[in-house]
Amino acid sequence: MDKKRFYITTPIYYPSAKLHIGHAYCTTLTDIFARYKRLRGFECYFLTGADEHGQKIEKNAAAAGKSPQQFVDEIVEGFHKLWKLLDISNDDFIRTTQDRHVKVVQDIFSKMLAKGDIYLGKYKGWYCTPCESFWTDTQVGPDHICPDCGRPVQVAEEEAYFFKTQKYVDSLLKFYEENPKFLTPESRKNEMINTFIKPGLDDLCVSRTSFSWGIPIRENEKHVIYVWLDALTNYITALGYDSEHPELFNKFWQDPECETIHILGADITRFHAIYWPMFLESLGLRKPDRELIHGLLMMRNSKMSKSKGNVVDPYPLVERFGVDAVRYYLAREVTFGQDGSFTPEQFVERSNTDLANALGNLLNRTVSMINKYFGGVIPAYQGRLNSVDGELESVIQTSVKQYENLLDDLKITEAITAAMDIVNRANKYIDETTPWVLAKDPEKEKELASVMNHLATALFTAGMLLKPVLVTASDKLFAQLGLNPEEVSYEKVYDVTFLGGQTVNKGEQLSPRLDATIEVPFIQYLMAGNQ
Ligand SMILES: [Zn+2]
Repeated sequence: MDKKRFYITTPIYYPSAKLHIGHAYCTTLTDIFARYKRLRGFECYFLTGADEHGQKIEKNAAAAGKSPQQFVDEIVEGFHKLWKLLDISNDDFIRTTQDRHVKVVQDIFSKMLAKGDIYLGKYKGWYCTPCESFWTDTQVGPDHICPDCGRPVQVAEEEAYFFKTQKYVDSLLKFYEENPKFLTPESRKNEMINTFIKPGLDDLCVSRTSFSWGIPIRENEKHVIYVWLDALTNYITALGYDSEHPELFNKFWQDPECETIHILGADITRFHAIYWPMFLESLGLRKPDRELIHGLLMMRNSKMSKSKGNVVDPYPLVERFGVDAVRYYLAREVTFGQDGSFTPEQFVERSNTDLANALGNLLNRTVSMINKYFGGVIPAYQGRLNSVDGELESVIQTSVKQYENLLDDLKITEAITAAMDIVNRANKYIDETTPWVLAKDPEKEKELASVMNHLATALFTAGMLLKPVLVTASDKLFAQLGLNPEEVSYEKVYDVTFLGGQTVNKGEQLSPRLDATIEVPFIQYLMAGNQ
């Protein structure tokens, strides 16, 4: 990690309906990276937001008897509530209907038009007259049926502006070659090249006249800007690009000392990996350093998507199980970059195994023993008295190093596993050292003190490494070890000797054990669309 600063973003989500657990997944991962960077002492700017234009919103609003702005205002209110509930630490929230975005997107369009990168042409597609909608080949399928109303569609044309992609293909390929870490997983790069670029990339349609809920083009008012030129540019308009206050933009986008990282789902990779670098090059701006593509959370064998049911509302899930259990599950259960599944059984089991049993019990037992054997005061470090002390210390030190290397490479699932290795090793250490036997022999007091000190150190270190994920439990853990959560510094993870003299405070369970016979049906009930 050689950069000084980090700019990290989620995609902006589309408020045509409520958010589901897939959105919570992406935003939670992004939040964990941001919190990790800050914990390590780096400056980090974290952006999320809402993509508020488009025909679907215009229609859904009309169906609900609301203006599009009123409609999105209400749904975006729900975004804010959910991110607050999940303790998302974003620095800003951009809405594409805000003036700061609209005006700059219009400027961007004008610049590209003036430069000859955008031209007026004809958009040809499948059109459903009753729905007033254009659809793609894939959307209408082999039977050429409107995916919304089921009526047959016809080929139709409308005047539209296009972005000249061919002008930037060569330099995009060169950019991929010079920046092998740009796309993660790496397989996505080959997919971009072989599936989209090599067969011949069409120019990208960037305007529409068939609906009006969008950013009007100044040069031709019957057109509104269509999707990607509006949506992707949020990453720079939010920082004040092309505004009177470009300080954040200069610091977190243009400065090569800042690493820019977009986190996104596979369904929008093409737009982020192909068109976004092209837009930026057209504007003469830096390209992002990294784009991380996460997999899909599947539920019960079916892919989660906005258009299908069978998705769990994260809100009641967090309300019932708490923010830590949900964040931990999302970050731990699905290996970043791969598809994973959400099942009620796995959720309950993961929470019980890792949080209630492994971490919660370790803390509980350690604090109880320190109370019982040392009057509640953590004994000072006694050195490495035997090979098990040495082994535990070396697991702690190795895990810290692994954790940092993994998270620097944004490998979150593996990083959590490294932190949990400490917890699991410490639980084994209790079995090996049998403190209840040592306690019976006054001559073994030094050994007993060493065991208590090592257990407290293992707990502290694991708690610190898990802090970006367990936003409430880690602080509770520190408090039970007699440490002030506001004052403990990350640097202490490198020091296995610093604890001693703190007075432990027995508190409530970090994470209650969940009863599967009650909680599994509860989650199934949520998944069926109830709340
Ligand atoms: Zn239709």
